[in-house]
Amino acid sequence: MWLRFLTLLMLAPLLAACASPIAPPRPVSAASGPVLITATADLPTIAPPPERSTPQSDAPVPTLILPTLTAFPDDDFFALGQSVEGRTIWAWQFGEGERTIVLVGGIHGGYEANTVLLSEMLVEHFRRSPEDVLPGIRLVIVPSANPDGTERGRGLEGRFNARGVDLNRNWGCEWSEEATLRERPVDPGPRPFSEPETLALRSFFISVEPDAVIFYHSAVGGVFMGACGNEPAAGWMGRLLAEATGYPYYREFHYYEVTGDASNWLAERGVPAAILELYSQDEPEFDENLRGVMALQCHFAGSSLARSSDASVLRRVCAPYTE
Ligand SMILES: [Zn+2]
Repeated sequence: MWLRFLTLLMLAPLLAACASPIAPPRPVSAASGPVLITATADLPTIAPPPERSTPQSDAPVPTLILPTLTAFPDDDFFALGQSVEGRTIWAWQFGEGERTIVLVGGIHGGYEANTVLLSEMLVEHFRRSPEDVLPGIRLVIVPSANPDGTERGRGLEGRFNARGVDLNRNWGCEWSEEATLRERPVDPGPRPFSEPETLALRSFFISVEPDAVIFYHSAVGGVFMGACGNEPAAGWMGRLLAEATGYPYYREFHYYEVTGDASNWLAERGVPAAILELYSQDEPEFDENLRGVMALQCHFAGSSLARSSDASVLRRVCAPYTE
């Protein structure tokens, strides 16, 4: 994987420059594999968008868990790329299974700092409790996808990268130069994938072809599945996450129009990708989101382990998420 990944990293600018065609999207695989949670509860009524509170000065501020070259084996973490200002975008990796789940925090930087904090707490959890990485799973966590924005603090400017671009308006599905955040215009970049942070994530996704991706945002409070154009969303994953975490699942993001969204681009490629909006701007909401990650692992691990000696372990670990 590393050679392939490193090669891809080196090739990424070249690929972007010559707009090399991306492999065609894989077919949406919502019907394949066991769906452990099949209940289709009525979708909740969509509430009006919550007012954003002014960030409190005593709110938790993430302290980035930056890998060092001595504390852990090399393969615990790796660099996805660099930000505009040269900060490394780190990824942590747990397990070496065939099913890859990717968790991404902080694409909106310090403005949604609690998503960075949550992602770091998940990193810490799986470092301390490696048994919670289930057999058959490779779990990759990118705590801070927009490190320049995280550095800029919790005001609106912390949402954007160092060039002022909203990194979740910079992807290739329904990209528009008229991007907005609610009524407010935001800069989507001069073209799709114009920003190094977006390119780094895109290269990684193309390289590993993940089975599921979650992007953490705040603070609408809900689960939304990516879908590009008329493509159906992978509703099974939205329902599974909602069931495990307690956040309501909405079939679509209705609050305001979003263009160039990362989860929609992944969906276009056949990758189930969720936006998980935390309820608050201040709390990491760790317990409920750990349940969500465990449920997603159980979903994928279940199919590969049904006949193996790990099956009983899996049944015990996953019982809370499958009953
Ligand atoms: Zn966001």
